[in-house]
Amino acid sequence: MATVPKDEASQAGVSFGIRSAPGELKFERPDDFYHELRCRVDDYFRTNGLRRRDCPRMYVKTAVILSWFAASYGLLVFAVPAWWIAVPLAVSLSLSLAAIGFNIMHDGGHGAYSDRPWLNKLTATALDMLGGSSYMWNQQHNVMHHSYANITGHDEDINLGFMGRVSPHQRRFAFHRFQHFYLWALYGMLPLKWQIFDDFHNLITGQIGGHRFKRPRGSDLAIFIAGKALFFTLALGIPTLVLHSFWLAVACYAAVSFVQGLALSIVFQVPHCGEQSAFPMPSGETGRMETPWAVHQVRTTVDYARGNRLLSWFVGGLNFQIEHHLFPRVCHVHYAAIAPLVEATCRDFGLQYKAYDTFFAGVRSHYRLLRRMGRADSPLATPTANG
Ligand SMILES: [Zn+2]
Repeated sequence: MATVPKDEASQAGVSFGIRSAPGELKFERPDDFYHELRCRVDDYFRTNGLRRRDCPRMYVKTAVILSWFAASYGLLVFAVPAWWIAVPLAVSLSLSLAAIGFNIMHDGGHGAYSDRPWLNKLTATALDMLGGSSYMWNQQHNVMHHSYANITGHDEDINLGFMGRVSPHQRRFAFHRFQHFYLWALYGMLPLKWQIFDDFHNLITGQIGGHRFKRPRGSDLAIFIAGKALFFTLALGIPTLVLHSFWLAVACYAAVSFVQGLALSIVFQVPHCGEQSAFPMPSGETGRMETPWAVHQVRTTVDYARGNRLLSWFVGGLNFQIEHHLFPRVCHVHYAAIAPLVEATCRDFGLQYKAYDTFFAGVRSHYRLLRRMGRADSPLATPTANG
């Protein structure tokens, strides 16, 4: 039996020096599939003379996205002449914020942006400027989600609290029968919840979703505090001064945050919480996972819209979610190229490689999963959903 591979999955510590994990859940081994896949991907980078990180395309992309954000923010706050121009600018600002998250901070947080740790940390802290906490995100996303994707009780990304049920192993409440309608609104409110409540609650309690973690100290705590101060200055302070209305600033902040939350949630939910997603659990006898780690990642993850280059650019390759989970330390600009290698290796090992043809096919599948998990006749653990 093996724990999660240190070099690819559990990236806690790459940028932040924290290494706690939610329990010692172990996976089966040997992982022949992963060994072969890594050989093929190594060969791809070697024969093409490419670097996994520090890619010029990524630096150009960073400049484009940050310029998009600065232009949207500047025009919306300082130069908007009428509300009908403010609306598209607010949407543009929301999407630019989401793009910073998908591309710059996500790659940095995984140590996939650069070979230089300080640059990964700098890009990861873009999340603090967006109102979140890169330290908390590292714990929840890198440790819990990437190590234990779709394992109920271990992966906090599938834990929607009592308001939603996406896994057959989660408790069902009667009102979940309407979750395929109301959850979309709650997705939009998630950034507000993180920014105003969750990060501070986690900091005070030292827990994320019931899992203890090492609280930020020293420079990490300073980044947390400075990030929140900078964010609320940008989101509420400056707009209040310019617009001469606190409540108008609050309304703009809430609207931008809602669109951003919807984009973030859908992009992250579709690859893991659809009808084709598996929600395996540890063996009741051994307490361990019955598949190797990489096989687990393939079974629990679905790609989408792989041929849509504009979407791939915007979501930072997160539509190639299988590739991202198998190679989180590879810069996302390479995912489209290594996807055929992953797909062929899956075929050779008899693993099903799943992908939705389009983004909306993935969204529809997520909707149907929500509807099914909310039904009164939805069993505790269905064979199909359990993979
Ligand atoms: Zn990730």
